[in-house]
Amino acid sequence: MTEMASHILPTYPRSGVTPARGEGVYLIDEQDRRYLDFTSGIAVNALGHAHPHLVRAVQDQASKLWHVSNLFNIPGQEQLASRICGASFAEYVFFCNSGAEALEAAIKMARRYHFVKGNPERNRIITFTGAFHGRTLATIAAGGQEKYLEGFEPRLPGFDQVAFGDHEALKQAITHETAAVLVEPVQGEGGVRAVPSFCLTGLRELCDEHGILLIADEVQCGIMRTGKFLAHQHAGMAPDIATIAKGIGGGFPLGACLATKEAASGMAFGSHGSTFGGNPLAMAVGNALLDVVLDPSFFEHVDHVATYLEDGLKKLALRHQEKIIELRGAGLMRGIKLADHVVARDVLHACAEESLLVCTAADNVLRLLPPLIIEPSHVDEALHVIDGVIARA
Ligand SMILES: *Cc1c(COP(=O)(O)O)cnc(C)c1O
Repeated sequence: MTEMASHILPTYPRSGVTPARGEGVYLIDEQDRRYLDFTSGIAVNALGHAHPHLVRAVQDQASKLWHVSNLFNIPGQEQLASRICGASFAEYVFFCNSGAEALEAAIKMARRYHFVKGNPERNRIITFTGAFHGRTLATIAAGGQEKYLEGFEPRLPGFDQVAFGDHEALKQAITHETAAVLVEPVQGEGGVRAVPSFCLTGLRELCDEHGILLIADEVQCGIMRTGKFLAHQHAGMAPDIATIAKGIGGGFPLGACLATKEAASGMAFGSHGSTFGGNPLAMAVGNALLDVVLDPSFFEHVDHVATYLEDGLKKLALRHQEKIIELRGAGLMRGIKLADHVVARDVLHACAEESLLVCTAADNVLRLLPPLIIEPSHVDEALHVIDGVIARA
């Protein structure tokens, strides 16, 4: 046997940072160096690290009951589902453990909806360029990105992709086989591109016209990330199905597929399942997270600090007009599109050297995903670092 440096399958390039613990918006490494965390574990740690209310919820539940399987009643599921429905368009919730699983449930639900209506040929789903829906076989096919598909043939059929923002192409792509349109209200991985509200309402009308289901992938942009519980709510429209994950567990693996009663009408006993999905421990965390984020004062907080961040970013863009091409995103999901000669990955590393952690996204975009609990002083701290790094780039 040859000596190996690491036994972890090398699917991720890792930064040099090794967090040992977290305190609110800061990550602290083994040498006690503090990093301001504007990644939130990729939009997951909505309440930052070691939030006392979440810690208490986990500890309380951990001493009572972790897992029983969906063979039994789980009151925490009833409670969390009813709160999610109360805060959204949804009437039903299916719990799972990740974003991709939520998407799998959504895709199956859309196909099954048309199947039970006697239209099994309506099984194709339209998606958009730049989309990201996960890494399972179905969700890489849905996302349509070559870099995630290459070498994993045969590709799962049933997905048609049109250019982001191309309304005509979308209309052309609709056929008698179209079951659903799947859209991220704000694309995350694809470069932090927000779909304008008028496009979302237009999409809703188009789907209604053709009896097509509209699926919103809110895995990254949902759970108050953009200042509304779900990002599509800014547009005053509602999808038929939505997926959530990242933020809802605050760091605990938790995902869900949300649907109207009508959209879910194909699903019955046995049509879908998950062993771990919705276990009491996950439900305790999800419910605790909603205690905080659904409080009206939290909406005000996110709105306030998001506006502060947006203003700061605008000033930054004015100072570096030759290096910052565009500001993108919404709420606390922001993208800085950089000029070609300023490489986002290099900026990320330079920021880490100055103890600020940020993400990148496709299209040479620096992506900021701070915990929703940040204060204006943290925004100042982050923008000061980014300003210096871009000035030197
Ligand atoms: C992260 C993400 C997913 C996949 O979630 P996983 O938990 O990694 O499976 C799906 N859709 C969007 C929009 C995402 O950002």
